[in-house]
Amino acid sequence: MPSSENHIALPPHVANQAYMDVSALDGGRLSCPAWTIIGDVPKTSNERFNIPLLGFHLRHSVSGKRVVYDLGMPRLEDLPKLPEFEAFAKGLLGNKSEGNLLKLISYEGHGCVEDSLRKGWVQPEEVDVVVISHLHWDHVGDARPFTKAEFVLGAEAKGIMTGEDPHTQSPVVVPTSAPTERTRFIVNWETSIGGLKAHDFFGDGSMYVLDIPGHLKGNVAILVRTSSDGSWILLIGDAVHHMSILHGERGFAHHDDGHGNIFCIHVDPDMARETIRKLKVLADAPRVQVQIAHEDVDKEVHLPGKFEPLA
Ligand SMILES: [Zn+2]
Repeated sequence: MPSSENHIALPPHVANQAYMDVSALDGGRLSCPAWTIIGDVPKTSNERFNIPLLGFHLRHSVSGKRVVYDLGMPRLEDLPKLPEFEAFAKGLLGNKSEGNLLKLISYEGHGCVEDSLRKGWVQPEEVDVVVISHLHWDHVGDARPFTKAEFVLGAEAKGIMTGEDPHTQSPVVVPTSAPTERTRFIVNWETSIGGLKAHDFFGDGSMYVLDIPGHLKGNVAILVRTSSDGSWILLIGDAVHHMSILHGERGFAHHDDGHGNIFCIHVDPDMARETIRKLKVLADAPRVQVQIAHEDVDKEVHLPGKFEPLA
């Protein structure tokens, strides 16, 4: 029997409802062992996933303001020029010791969000807001070209940026990529959608930042109206790494070797499970399409193209 949660009502539209045009941006591409993403693939398996690292460009229908959600990864050749990527680059290029997960990754594409924007006739300095889903290296990208943008992160990312949170030390976390003088943390979650804390970013219901805890502190998704009459897109940077996980067909990577060594793709697996359950309810609502950062898209939705609103 369907629970009331399965009949989730998204915020209603109003007269002259504002919305956003949403496009994909190429933030690079990598291949990684399938077991690092999916739980029932054994660590001995040779299966690999070849995945994109997408960013997204969003344009407000009334004000024309431009938002970018996630910056993918920097150009490989720029890594040595980015001091905040030092620990990551060491892990990537340094010792070959066992357990160095970065050694399992190979690069399959060298796109970057900056170039992808320019290809779509948008200059990075025209971007008003950059929302970073979380501080993992394949989402923070290269902030340098976004000279005018306000950077927006979830409240709990602050502890990672200031060094108070232990995850600051992880080689896959890049705590200091956003310019601190232009960074704002979302602390006021004035509403909730589908049980997830939400912030009405422009105050007009066009774009909601959602708190999606469990993967890494401060993780945020974006729920955006794509038309004035009730179509939506849910953009998810990393609470879900593969669509089969969102739909409950497969579990996320959680490998316990029985000797106290656990590899999990999320810092808080129980909380991540709960977040994924709520995201699935949102994804199942009428006229909601879902796009995750690591799932391929059609060429047509890359800027200057866009995701067509669901009818
Ligand atoms: Zn991540």
